[in-house]
Amino acid sequence: MGDPRESSRQDAIDRDANDPLGVFRQRFHIPTDASGDPLIYFCGNSLGLMPEAAFDDVTAELEDWRDLAVAGHLQARRPWLPYHESFRQHGASLVGAKPIEVVYMNTLTANLHFLMASFYRPESKRIKILCDSPCFPSDSYALQSQARWHGLEPLDAMVVLKPREGEHCLRDEDILGAIDEHRNELALVMFAGVNYYTGQAYDIKSIAARCQEHGIPFGLDLAHAAGNLDLELHEDGVDFAAWCTYKYGNSGPGAVAGAFVHERHAHNQELVRLAGWWGNDPATRFQMDENPEFIAQEGAEGWQVSNPPIFSMAPLHSSLSIFAEAGMAALRERSMRLTGYLEQQVKAIGSSHYQIITPSEPHRRGAQISIRVLGDGQALQSSLADAGIVTDFRPPDVIRIAPTPLYNTFDEIHRFAAVLEQKARVETGQGGD
Ligand SMILES: *Cc1c(COP(=O)(O)O)cnc(C)c1O
Repeated sequence: MGDPRESSRQDAIDRDANDPLGVFRQRFHIPTDASGDPLIYFCGNSLGLMPEAAFDDVTAELEDWRDLAVAGHLQARRPWLPYHESFRQHGASLVGAKPIEVVYMNTLTANLHFLMASFYRPESKRIKILCDSPCFPSDSYALQSQARWHGLEPLDAMVVLKPREGEHCLRDEDILGAIDEHRNELALVMFAGVNYYTGQAYDIKSIAARCQEHGIPFGLDLAHAAGNLDLELHEDGVDFAAWCTYKYGNSGPGAVAGAFVHERHAHNQELVRLAGWWGNDPATRFQMDENPEFIAQEGAEGWQVSNPPIFSMAPLHSSLSIFAEAGMAALRERSMRLTGYLEQQVKAIGSSHYQIITPSEPHRRGAQISIRVLGDGQALQSSLADAGIVTDFRPPDVIRIAPTPLYNTFDEIHRFAAVLEQKARVETGQGGD
């Protein structure tokens, strides 16, 4: 046991053994390498692993479709007609919302558009959208096209808030300062909950409060925050939000997304929206009049357009119930320990080769550390892949590591850091083993 790496590995193994949430790893299928060893999967921020039970969720629907056909709308084991209603409880608690505030429908970018149709209403001098940077491409396209949709030039309509020179993340005071500065021209403030690139978690509560002070609608893209942070969307007073469920939500590629609309808008029939039959009051949804009048269902469900896509919604049953069982607060607590351990391991390498661009205060980040690699980042990713470690490389030089609290372990982080250390030694010519 003279080798410090060996004794620190034992420490990681002990942490795992004593972790009350460690058991949830067994609920997931961990992919293996060619020799059958489990991969170390740090890409839960991109596509979460499959809960074992999701397999049965989907096959049950295939069976019911095969055996029941149209009768499945009412007689399937989980009837398709009210399918979205079965996520009301767990789907809302995932993001700290009331059941009336959340609906699962469409996909993330589509939901952003549907919600902006209601909450981005540029008028006279108030036409602009303030957003964080770097902004995810799909969000940029969505925001710019919303401006164009209203006959505006994106360059005139967008205020993209960038970190200060030489910094990677936004400062809270700069965010609030920008809202104050542009308050008379802003029609919308649209932020990420957690920035996809830097991993920075924004102070949602203070941004929401400042927006409310100035009467500016505040929307969130929670792609990297849902199932990651312990969100309080209702308490914080956010106007609307959307998130995908295939990242930390573990609901499968292209799975149906979430949408949140605050309760204070739940009964407002005057809000402009892009409507469809599923958003109509269920009592009159099927009325086949020549000129049916749209009566919005109360709450977030009133933003639905189409009947639910059952196969891409089925896995939400297992995944959301795992979150409900573990509890978001407990998961977040474990997540902070895992991410803190990852940061500590990377820093302990002591090489100028690796620069962490994610904030080091635990409340200012989620389950992700973004590391700038000053050596050959692509080569590092290949070495990691050779060691059975799945990571995500963002050109030019950032590798994103997301230890997710439902299935990653301290030992996996330890093994990751060992590869990093070895690589730094080789590249800086410090020899080593
Ligand atoms: C993952 C992600 C998306 C993906 O959008 P889809 O509509 O689900 O394809 C959009 N925005 C952000 C910030 C993301 O991280």
